[in-house]
Amino acid sequence: MERILVSACLLGRPVRYDGTAKRSDDEILANWRAEGRLLSCCPEVSGGLPVPRPPAEISSAPGPGSAGPLPADDGSVTGGAAVLDGTAQVRTAGGIDVTAAFVRGAEQALEVAQRYAVRMAVLKEGSPSCGSGRIYDGSFTGIPVPGGGVTTALLQRNGIRVFGEDQLEAAAAFLDELESPH
Ligand code: SF4
Repeated sequence: MERILVSACLLGRPVRYDGTAKRSDDEILANWRAEGRLLSCCPEVSGGLPVPRPPAEISSAPGPGSAGPLPADDGSVTGGAAVLDGTAQVRTAGGIDVTAAFVRGAEQALEVAQRYAVRMAVLKEGSPSCGSGRIYDGSFTGIPVPGGGVTTALLQRNGIRVFGEDQLEAAAAFLDELESPH
């Protein structure tokens, strides 16, 4: 049976930066949970950050209020992938560099995924760790930009398909493909 890595906050764990959860009540996720497929992970907590913790965003330049990542469509490496490449940092609104904890958390998520031969994940959209289609621009003013988080980038680089919680139907179709006999 295919196992699926899922953001802990989507499963109701209160591990977000502000101490809340973002529980998804989607039936698809509930069914997978009942089937025992889900592996819960919170990369930021497993990377050593506390709950609650200051909000953090990916910045292309040091310090708060930086320009943030470039749009993903200009061909440059942005977001979590740029963090992995050392060309972007993860910083709190107060300017503290938390990149190392984010990378450590991503590595732990990958380790869990590889231990269970995971080929797909459903992660919380918008997060600097778990986002897959959108993150925030590093200015802490709520401006979204296309891109993914650090954990998403590391999972994708290792061949794991990442879906956001608003893409569960596509995720279910992908699971069917993985489990259909060739
Ligand atoms: Fe943890 Fe990811 Fe949820 Fe943030 S989005 S609380 S890192 S599981």
